[in-house]
Amino acid sequence: MPDSTEPLFPTKPDPRLPEIHAILLERYGRPAPRVPWDPLTQLIYSMLTSRTKTAESEQVMRDLHARFPTWDDLRDASVDEIERTIAIVTFPEVKAPRLKAALMGITSRYGSLTLDFLAKYRTEKIRSWLEQFEGVGNQVSAAVANFSTLRRRAICVDAHHLRVTQRLALTPRADAAITEERLMRLVPLDWTAEILDEHHSLFKIHGQTLCTFSDPQCRRCPLLERCPFGTRAAGPEK
Ligand code: SF4
Repeated sequence: MPDSTEPLFPTKPDPRLPEIHAILLERYGRPAPRVPWDPLTQLIYSMLTSRTKTAESEQVMRDLHARFPTWDDLRDASVDEIERTIAIVTFPEVKAPRLKAALMGITSRYGSLTLDFLAKYRTEKIRSWLEQFEGVGNQVSAAVANFSTLRRRAICVDAHHLRVTQRLALTPRADAAITEERLMRLVPLDWTAEILDEHHSLFKIHGQTLCTFSDPQCRRCPLLERCPFGTRAAGPEK
C-alpha cells in the first residue's frame, strides 16, 4: 500500500523553472515592477477581468473610479448600474451580481468594506477566506494574495500560464488550482512573492505573443528545445 502521506509530485525545486525564467527575461526583458494595490481593489479587478483583454481590464477600472468615488458607493449601487458600468468586460451579467454580493459579504463579516485585515492571516487562510465568495476561485485568490500589498507567495495561474506550463510539461495536465499547487512545489525556495509575480508576468507575455492558444510560434520560440509540445508541433526542419 502506498503511504497516503507521500507527496504525489516532487517537492524539490525543479531547475527548469529558473532556466526558463532566465530565457524569458532575456527574450522579453524584465516586466515593469508592479505597484501593488490594496487587497480590496485587487479583488475587484481580478473578479471583473477574467477572460478579458488587458486594455479592457484597465478601462473598466477607470470607468468604475469615474462612476463610483468609493468602493462603498460601488457596493451600494444596484446590480443593474454595476452591470452597465462594467459592460466592457466579458460576462458582465454574471460578474455584476457576484461582485456586489462579495462586497456586501465582506462588509457584513468584517463590519466595513476593507480587506486590509487579511494581512494578519496566514496565506492559506487568506486564500480560503476569499474563496468563500461566489466568483472568487483559485486564480482570483492567488492574484489578491500575490499581486496586492499582501505580497504572499502564490502563483496566479490564468489561461496563458496554464497553457504554457502544460505545453512545457512542467506539471501533468490539470486545472489551475492543482497546477498552482504542483508549481509551488517546483519553484525555487528563495523565489519571493515578487519573483513569483514576475514568473506569472513572463508566462503571460509568452502566452500572449509566441505561445498563443491557436497558433504557437514554436520555431521562433527560445524555449523550443525544452518543450515537448513544441518539439512535436515544429517537426523536423525541412
Ligand atoms: S515551443 Fe511552442 S508550445 Fe513550447 S513554449 Fe514555445 S511556443 Fe509554446
